[in-house]
Amino acid sequence: MTDTLPGTTVGATAGVVGSTATTRPAPVAGAAGAAPAAGAAPAAGAAGAAGRAPLDPYALRSDFPILATQAHGRPLVYLDSAATSQKPRVVIEAVDTFYREYNANVHRGIYEIGERATAAYEGARASVARFINAPSAREIVFVRNATEAINLVAATWGRTTIGRGDVIVLTEMEHHANLVPWQLLVQEKDGDLEFIPITDDGLLRLDVFEVLLRLKPKLVAFTHVSNTLGTITPVAEITALAHAAGALVLVDGAQAVPHLPVDVQALGADFYAFSGHKMLGPTGSGALWARRELLEAMPPYMAGGEMIREVHLRRSEWNDVPWKFEAGTPDIAAAVGLGVAAEYLIGLGMDRVAAHERELVVYALETLRREVPGIILYGPPAGQRGGVIPFNLPDVHPHDVAQVLDRFGVAIRAGHHCTMPLHERLDLVATGRASFSVYSTREDVDALVAGLREAQRIFAG
Ligand code: PMP
Repeated sequence: MTDTLPGTTVGATAGVVGSTATTRPAPVAGAAGAAPAAGAAPAAGAAGAAGRAPLDPYALRSDFPILATQAHGRPLVYLDSAATSQKPRVVIEAVDTFYREYNANVHRGIYEIGERATAAYEGARASVARFINAPSAREIVFVRNATEAINLVAATWGRTTIGRGDVIVLTEMEHHANLVPWQLLVQEKDGDLEFIPITDDGLLRLDVFEVLLRLKPKLVAFTHVSNTLGTITPVAEITALAHAAGALVLVDGAQAVPHLPVDVQALGADFYAFSGHKMLGPTGSGALWARRELLEAMPPYMAGGEMIREVHLRRSEWNDVPWKFEAGTPDIAAAVGLGVAAEYLIGLGMDRVAAHERELVVYALETLRREVPGIILYGPPAGQRGGVIPFNLPDVHPHDVAQVLDRFGVAIRAGHHCTMPLHERLDLVATGRASFSVYSTREDVDALVAGLREAQRIFAG
């Protein structure tokens, strides 16, 4: 194989702090990893604050140390942010500082570092609440990830609410995390699952949804943004229809919070689940938001220390919400890091993040169509999708494509992306998927294009 990928400016553009332009800055060799960010404020690229110049991903990149590294001797081109995002220095440092300076358990220690740990942990909860405009930090339950958030709702609200013959409506494009917990629940309770179908472009068939609502479902649970097709679902509209039919609504926000402004009050849903590691936070962090009265009514999820107010040999009383759902020692460092990630994104402005990724999707779809003959692109039009580009090259397995791309330092995901039923619906074995985040650039897309052309050349011969 010959290495024909053109050099990119990846990781070499840090010296543009304060730049308000989206134009490609001149490379500044060796500048990556420059000045560390102070507090949770982005080091660069968001400086426009209220002036709100468009997000400058080139300037932001110096906040992300890993983007200055190499893979196979090439600058890392990270196009797998839907699997997990990279982390800005402020998040890495927040975790490091916790362990170095005030590692102690929370809600317990009557001593200085214990109080500092508790304040940081609860402060992070307040930041996460602000990030999604929750009415109260008491409505934020810290969990490990979106999977745990959804399992928590299924195991508590679900087990006490769903009975024989009760219907839960999902969609055909759910991540397994928002499918399998409901399968287990209806198997146990003898309930039923129904599915909102999708069009071939990956849009939800709301006309069929309205028919399904005649079954009087107890819950409608669906993704805000599809991790495979990128489809942005009309959450407020679906929620209004579901509520009018008497159903509660759970939204899987794992792929939405990193990319779109999310206001849980405006959306009107009842439960909103998301992971921290996809929104620039540490692995092991995530949150469930639910309306306070629901959290109050739900039984505990796991039991043990922290989640109790009083324990006697034969009975116990539960702690207040949200601590009723946080049994045992939590991942304090991860939660603190998540709070910093939320503040970082608030600082960037999620409207600017969304606009940046929308622009990149338009560029990617156009460039791939033009430059990679025969490429098959899936998903809805640019205006209706987040920063996810699923594709296939005819007659080449996406794993092989991903392997060739890897040789050029380009990281994409290949497989079923934990949406096997969606792949079945589209009659696909697997897809390649490139996905974006705040730090993604047109040069990343160009590197993908060059790698795909190389893959085509290799597999044609
Ligand atoms: N829902 C969606 C839409 C996702 O993309 C993912 C992660 N790929 C999840 C849920 C599960 O997230 P986690 O693995 O962090 O629990």
